[in-house]
Amino acid sequence: MLICKQILKVQKCFLKFHPIHTWTKPEGFDTKIKVYNCITRNKEPLVIRDKHLITWYTCGPTVYDSSHIGHASCYVKLDIIQKILQNYFKYNLITVMNITDIDDKIIRRAIQMKKTYKDVAKMYEKEFFEDLKSLGIAKPNIILRVTDNMDIIIDFIKQLESNGQTYMAKDNSVYFSVENDNYGKLVNINEGTKQQTKKGVKKNDMDFVLWKESKEGEPYWNSPWGSGRPGWHIECSALASHVLGSNIDIHAGGMDLKFPHHENEEAQSCSYHKTEQWVNYWIHIGHLHLKNSEKMSKSLKNTVSIQEMLQEVKTEVFRLACAMSHYKSGMEYSKELLETSQNVYQVYKNLIISCNDYINGHLKATINNDVLLKVLGDSYSSVHNALCDDFDTPSVIRTLNELVSVTNSMLHTTTSSNNQIGLSSVAAVSNFLSGILTLFGVDFDERTTRSSENFIEVMNILNDFRQDVRLIGIEKKDKDILKLCDNIREQLKENNIVVRDYTKTSSWSR
Ligand SMILES: [Zn+2]
Repeated sequence: MLICKQILKVQKCFLKFHPIHTWTKPEGFDTKIKVYNCITRNKEPLVIRDKHLITWYTCGPTVYDSSHIGHASCYVKLDIIQKILQNYFKYNLITVMNITDIDDKIIRRAIQMKKTYKDVAKMYEKEFFEDLKSLGIAKPNIILRVTDNMDIIIDFIKQLESNGQTYMAKDNSVYFSVENDNYGKLVNINEGTKQQTKKGVKKNDMDFVLWKESKEGEPYWNSPWGSGRPGWHIECSALASHVLGSNIDIHAGGMDLKFPHHENEEAQSCSYHKTEQWVNYWIHIGHLHLKNSEKMSKSLKNTVSIQEMLQEVKTEVFRLACAMSHYKSGMEYSKELLETSQNVYQVYKNLIISCNDYINGHLKATINNDVLLKVLGDSYSSVHNALCDDFDTPSVIRTLNELVSVTNSMLHTTTSSNNQIGLSSVAAVSNFLSGILTLFGVDFDERTTRSSENFIEVMNILNDFRQDVRLIGIEKKDKDILKLCDNIREQLKENNIVVRDYTKTSSWSR
């Protein structure tokens, strides 16, 4: 037994992660939120430099094709974290995103479509922001296109060159040399791995292009290294540094961007700003994949477009499905997932309706005010702790489910008397539930949920009913019925609905 324990101890010791590179806890204000840190592989306190302000950079899309639900889940999960920081913790969040509007893929696509690269980029950028809007994702405060900021990118490379961090290879392209750099902190690369060079134009296999010589017929920009265009990694470093400077609180993107993209961004920016740490916190979102398959990607031809998905489920249901899995975890997209999310959504919606019915006296129930307030109090702290613990939204959902279950059982205990003792606690539960769900972008405000989908149908039903009643009133010369019809018409008018009465029919318009 003792030997077993010792073996376990030794194994644990070997399994313990030993970071080669260091992460420095920033100086500033401790938010009391803990965030997973890929450098220390631990949850670390989120310390921000300004007590009220958080700077946030997200890697934006390369606009060469339609976005799919893999992108949707990534941007929804990031949007949920941003809403938590802004609307729950009340930080002033400055969000910045780049748009890669020149790239090999865009050029290839332009040739296929017999369009200019500019038209292709413009078309897919427009579609990208329309998709974000239909997913309820807030637009970044600042959006920077690569082609609008070529001077900034060229100046950035010039600085790296004067820092002795670059070289021109035989292919007339400029590369970043990882050898002079503390490279590999995000994925814990050691010197030995770095020295494994390969044949080719690069000095080290891990070196990456900063400025690429353009081929004949391709779009190009003039630079000290000849006509060409920037590499992908340098765009984010230059644009993010331009807006947010030499130190950024949070930098986010999909898990696939961690290496090499984010690693390269950090290396370039640390060299440029002559600092050891450019980004204080990296947030990486787990992939969405289809059931029984790997990551969803265009090259694997297993994508589902955002619009296709939104024909199956409402935005709120998809967002709830995203909140049900932790941002770091992978997410399996399946019929079962959407059904589960749809059920949870319906349970929340029904509870809010029942709460309103109880408050308005339509539902008779016996509420134990003290018990409900106690459960609600426990829910406040559970939700708060979960949000502080690396934005643990699945735990939040579990807490909400328990609260909903207790409230539901009280609201649906049949009783003939309605003493309405628990009015305030029922209202408090309803407020709390809808408030937390709003953080996830799941809105139950009746005016918003009803506004477009059923409005016309409901108005047609009302109009037809009023028309029939009015005809009876006319036939029977019943002044009371006709007066009621006039009243409804006036009330609708106050709500910007105009009803027109003809001899035997009525119509309505907004
Ligand atoms: Zn980036």
